[in-house]
Amino acid sequence: MSYKPRSPRVAPAQNRPAPSGFSPGSHSGPANPLVPVYPYRCAPDGLLTRRQLRAAGLRPGGVDPVAEIRWRRGRRFALLYDRTHALPVRPMTEGRRRALNAAMRARRTCPACRRDRGYVIPRSLGCCWPCSDASKEAA
Ligand SMILES: [Zn+2]
Repeated sequence: MSYKPRSPRVAPAQNRPAPSGFSPGSHSGPANPLVPVYPYRCAPDGLLTRRQLRAAGLRPGGVDPVAEIRWRRGRRFALLYDRTHALPVRPMTEGRRRALNAAMRARRTCPACRRDRGYVIPRSLGCCWPCSDASKEAA
């Protein structure tokens, strides 16, 4: 593995090629061929991941990611959002809290036995562990 030595996160704009069609670094096929791909730590300032936006009290605001960063030879990637289009996180309201709780309860409820299992039902199983085991034994 050969990463570039830690370069300053903010490069002078005139040293950066235009973002159109620009994909520095090696990567194995970007998830979205329309956005530029940057190596780890080399993303331009003002582009943040969803988590970084959240930490700043912001959300993507329905705008598509404008770039992505890739590391581990392109196997790991993160989408980057333009900070200038970000909106403040919506405050938690009673209605939102209820909707969120209902959504989480639905994810914890096994579709086979209709029980709230206290954990999110794995998508790969499609049902809770006891139901999965029962169907395996029956097979
Ligand atoms: Zn079940």
